[in-house]
Amino acid sequence: MTTLTFDSLNPATGTVVASHPKHDAEAVRAAVARAQEAAEWWEGLGHAGRRRRLLDYKAVVTRELRELAALVHEETGKPVADATLEIVLAITHIDWAARNARKVLGPRRVSPGMVGANLSATLEYLPLGVVGVIGPWNYPVFTPMGSIAYALAAGNAVVFKPSEFTPGVGVRLAELFAEAVPERPVFQTVTGLGETGAALARDPRVKKIAFTGSTATAKRVMAACAENLTPMVAECGGKDAFIVDADADVEAAADACLWGALSNAGQTCVGVERVYVVDAVYEPFMRALSERAATVKAGEHYGPITMPGQLDIIKRHIDDATKSGRTVAGGPDSVRPPYVDPVIVEDVPEDSPAVREETFGPTITVRRTKDAQEALELANDTAYGLAGTVFSGNRRRAMALARAMRTGMASVNSVISFASVASLPFGGTGDSGFGRIHGADGLREFARAKAIARQRFPVPGMRLTSFSRQPDELERLIRLVTFLHGRRKR
Ligand code: NDP
Repeated sequence: MTTLTFDSLNPATGTVVASHPKHDAEAVRAAVARAQEAAEWWEGLGHAGRRRRLLDYKAVVTRELRELAALVHEETGKPVADATLEIVLAITHIDWAARNARKVLGPRRVSPGMVGANLSATLEYLPLGVVGVIGPWNYPVFTPMGSIAYALAAGNAVVFKPSEFTPGVGVRLAELFAEAVPERPVFQTVTGLGETGAALARDPRVKKIAFTGSTATAKRVMAACAENLTPMVAECGGKDAFIVDADADVEAAADACLWGALSNAGQTCVGVERVYVVDAVYEPFMRALSERAATVKAGEHYGPITMPGQLDIIKRHIDDATKSGRTVAGGPDSVRPPYVDPVIVEDVPEDSPAVREETFGPTITVRRTKDAQEALELANDTAYGLAGTVFSGNRRRAMALARAMRTGMASVNSVISFASVASLPFGGTGDSGFGRIHGADGLREFARAKAIARQRFPVPGMRLTSFSRQPDELERLIRLVTFLHGRRKR
């Protein structure tokens, strides 16, 4: 069984935070077996029982806020204040999922329609069983909790495989759950490297995988899921655009743009990476942006790059962008491992890696456009489709632009604000993945629709689903359908 261990490191200092087991396939199978049994018990509690326990879990996490934030800080290097923010958001999601599960998923009567007027139609959403969650390191509490809380609230047991960079946070989240729900291992964490996640995805008793990470790994996980026809929700990052429209408040836009791009050292799936500014406000926006960027420092306002390998990608993008574009802030020397200072480059060709590939670092490319339409077209010219931002003084145009962005989410006159609204679904399209976490869609993602039609009384002379049906019964049906559906609407 599990013999080997691996270390989680503090990326700012390189010191070992703790050692964790590399759970092998056998250990993962044992965890899934325990989860399967726990899932039955958890489902049996019903919505009311689960709601009470999930609200207890929320209270335990809330009381542990400072300690958990310190651990997130140690494993990711992000400032404690940022770690605190992500945990607060996760708490609001546990609360929303717990309070809304019955309303969204519980049994309800739906209209049977005229042809089924003698039927009573009931719809409800039942648990899947065991859900496997494979999480990232960039927001090690907020991101996986967007799946874990919703999967639990929908009545499933969860086996969570955190990123190898943040195993301690993952272990702690499950320990805290056991404090609130000591009866059964409804939420377990297994630790290890990619192999551990692969074993989870391959286990046929896992009824859904919620994955967050790169598009390339999502494809590998999906191939493993395909063996058992296990469905999957995939959140795979993006190349999010930020549009500044003609009558935008440029100071507010520059402030939001910087925070969206630089906070968490740019290691945010919905972080700002590309900025398109209409000609009318280009100069004042760039002035505001560069003045503000000069006051932001890596190691002070945001932490190090958590995953050492990412530094090479960030450096490659910066080198390429600064060769072909005009540097506004920072440059190749901004990479001083494990930190990267802010880098802003103008007029980088749209086909360069810094514009097309996910950088996942504190860098922005900026381009002047003749109008909002051109900005929108460039924003949409990407394989990704996660989120986007519009700053505009014209509410109607801002909403139209936000709607026309080919993304799952958008913010208007704010940045990343959708993530803080628990009732809004979170997820993307294209290379950014599919499926939704958060909100009612997030609850339904971890449930199967159950449809029941009950005949209340037989309709005389309309035995349609019987071999004793007579031709006049079919004739009556044709007359009814023609009356109901046969006329053209004028
Ligand atoms: P990966 O996609 O490689 O890893 C994400 C998760 O999947 C981790 O828990 C990882 O475990 C696990 N995993 C890796 N291989 C497998 C496998 N074969 N089967 C099942 N699970 C597996 O992302 P990285 O952390 O390596 O980051 C790479 C890039 O992904 C980043 O540069 C960034 O661009 C993007 N990314 C996007 C995120 C987002 O929020 N959408 C979050 C994180 C990264 P382990 O860590 O142990 O390898």
